[in-house]
Amino acid sequence: MSQSHNRLLFIETVGCQMNVLDSELVVAALREQGYELTDQVGDADTVLFNTCSVREHAEHKIYSQLGRLKYSKRKRPDQVIGVFGCMAQKDQELIFQRAPHVDMVVGTGQLAEIPRLVSEARRDRTRALAVSLDRRGGSRLEVASSFESYDPLRDPTMRPSPFQAFVRIMIGCDKFCTYCVVPTTRGPEQSRPPSQVASEVRMLAGQGVREVTLIGQTVNSYSHVEDGRSWRLADLLELIHDTDGIKRIKFVTNFPRDMDTPLLEAVGDLSKVCRYLHVPAQSGSDAVLERMKRGYTVDEYREMMGRINEIVPGCAVSSDFIVGFCGESDQEFEASVRLVEECRFKNSFIFKYSARSGTKADDRLDDDVPDAVKRERNARLLEVQTAICEEDNALFIGRSVEVLVEGPSKMTLKQQKRQHRGTPHPMPGVELSEESDVDLVSLEPGPVPEDPDPLTGPIQLVGRTDCDRIVVFDGNPRLAGSLASISVEDCTATTLLGRIITRELQHAPVIELPVL
Ligand code: SAM
Ligand code: SF4
Repeated sequence: MSQSHNRLLFIETVGCQMNVLDSELVVAALREQGYELTDQVGDADTVLFNTCSVREHAEHKIYSQLGRLKYSKRKRPDQVIGVFGCMAQKDQELIFQRAPHVDMVVGTGQLAEIPRLVSEARRDRTRALAVSLDRRGGSRLEVASSFESYDPLRDPTMRPSPFQAFVRIMIGCDKFCTYCVVPTTRGPEQSRPPSQVASEVRMLAGQGVREVTLIGQTVNSYSHVEDGRSWRLADLLELIHDTDGIKRIKFVTNFPRDMDTPLLEAVGDLSKVCRYLHVPAQSGSDAVLERMKRGYTVDEYREMMGRINEIVPGCAVSSDFIVGFCGESDQEFEASVRLVEECRFKNSFIFKYSARSGTKADDRLDDDVPDAVKRERNARLLEVQTAICEEDNALFIGRSVEVLVEGPSKMTLKQQKRQHRGTPHPMPGVELSEESDVDLVSLEPGPVPEDPDPLTGPIQLVGRTDCDRIVVFDGNPRLAGSLASISVEDCTATTLLGRIITRELQHAPVIELPVL
C-alpha cells in the first residue's frame, strides 16, 4: 500500500439532514484511521462528495466540482476521489463515464465500507462500485437488506454544534410521490429498533448534547415491532423524553397523512418536544396533489392543520411547495398561494419542479411549465410567505421568549472566519448549499471556543425558540447549550432580534442586563 498520501480529507456535502449525518459518521470513521479534515480541496489526497439527487441542480453542482478535479491526480498521484450518497446510488457507472478520474462510487446503503474502499482504491488503483439493489432488483426483503442503515458510534468532535445532534430513526421511503427519487436512492422504508434509538440518545446526552432531532424521510411513519410491542413515533418520543441532559426533542420531516392524533397529543403533552412541525403540503390543488400521488386532499391537509392547532396550541408549522409541477395551471398555482395565506406557515421551502429520471412523473407526465413561469411562481409564493413571516415575527416584538442558545451567529462566524483565515472548520464539507433542506435544523454555529477571551466581551449569539424561531442577541459564548430568556426588540422575516434577560437569583426581581 502506498504510504505517501497525506491523510488530509476534503469532504463536500449537499442535500438533506440525512446527508449531513452521513458525512458526520463517515468523517468520524476516517478520523479513526488517522485522517484529518481540510477545507482546501487542493491540499487533500482524499476527496469525497456526499451527493443529492432530489433536484437536477444538486447533481450539476457535483459534476462541475468533479470536472474541476479532472487533472488533479497529475500533481497528486496518490489522490483518491470518491462519490457517495443519493447520486451515487442513482447514477452508478454513469459517474465513471462522466468523470473517469473518480475512483469509487458508494451508495447510501454501503457507507460502512468507505474506509476500506478508500484504502483499496489507493493501493490497487482500481475502481470500486458499491451500491444497493434496484427497487425492482429482488424481493422487498432482499432490496431492504441491501440498504444498510449506517449508525456507528458517534464522535462528538465531528458535530457542527456540540449541543445538537441528529438521530436517524428510519431510512428509506415507500411513498413513491411521482416526482421524487428518494424511494430509489434511499431504498425501502425501515425503522430502527426503539431500544437502539434510546441508547444512542443517552450516549449523545452523555457527550453534552442538549437537543436531539430525530430524522427520517417521513419520520412520523416510524413503525417498529420490538419484543412483541408495536412502536410508533409517539411511543418513541415518550421513551426518550426523560433522558437526563436532553432539553429539547425535534423531529423532521413529517408526512401529512401520518400526522395522527396520538402523535399530536404526545407533542402537546411532552414538555421537551418542540412545538414545531415540518409537514410539507407540496401544493394547494387537489388535481396537482393527485398527479403527485401524495395520497391526501387539500381538505385533509386543512383538517390536519385544525387538529394541530387544537391539540398543540401555538405550534409552528412549516411546509415545502413544488411550483411548476407537470401541467400546473395558473389556477392550480393560485390554490397554493391561497393555502400558504390560509395556513400562515412559519416558513416554506419553495422549489421549482425538476424532472428526475426514473420517477413516474418523468416517465408519464410532461414537464410542460416553462422555466420562466416556474421562476415567476417561485418568486411570487416566496413573496407571499415572506410577508407572512414578517407579520408573524413582528407580533413577538415586546415579548420575551425562551431560546436554546446554539452558539455564535452566522454574522459572528463570518467575522471570525475573516479574522482567522485558514483555521479549519470542524466539518469543512458542511458548507450548506442552496440545495440544502437542512435549514430546518440549524447547523450553522461552529464549536464554541473552549475559553473565550474575556477581553473581547459579548458576541452575537443565535438560539431558537421551541417553535423554531431564530433569535439573535449579544451574550457570552459560554451560554451555548443553555436555555436563556430573550426580550425581543426587532425582527426581520427570518430572525427575531433581542436582548438577554438575566434574573437575579437571590432577590427574584427580573432585571434586564446584557450579559458580559
Ligand atoms: N419526505 C419529505 C416529504 O414527503 O415531504 C420530503 C423529502 S424531499 C428530499 C424534500 C423536498 O424536496 C420535498 O418536500 C419537495 O418539496 C422537494 N422535491 C422533491 N423532489 C423534487 C423534484 N423532483 N423537484 C423539485 N422539488 C422536489
Ligand atoms: Fe419523496 Fe414523497 Fe418519500 Fe417525501 S414522501 S421522500 S417526497 S417519495
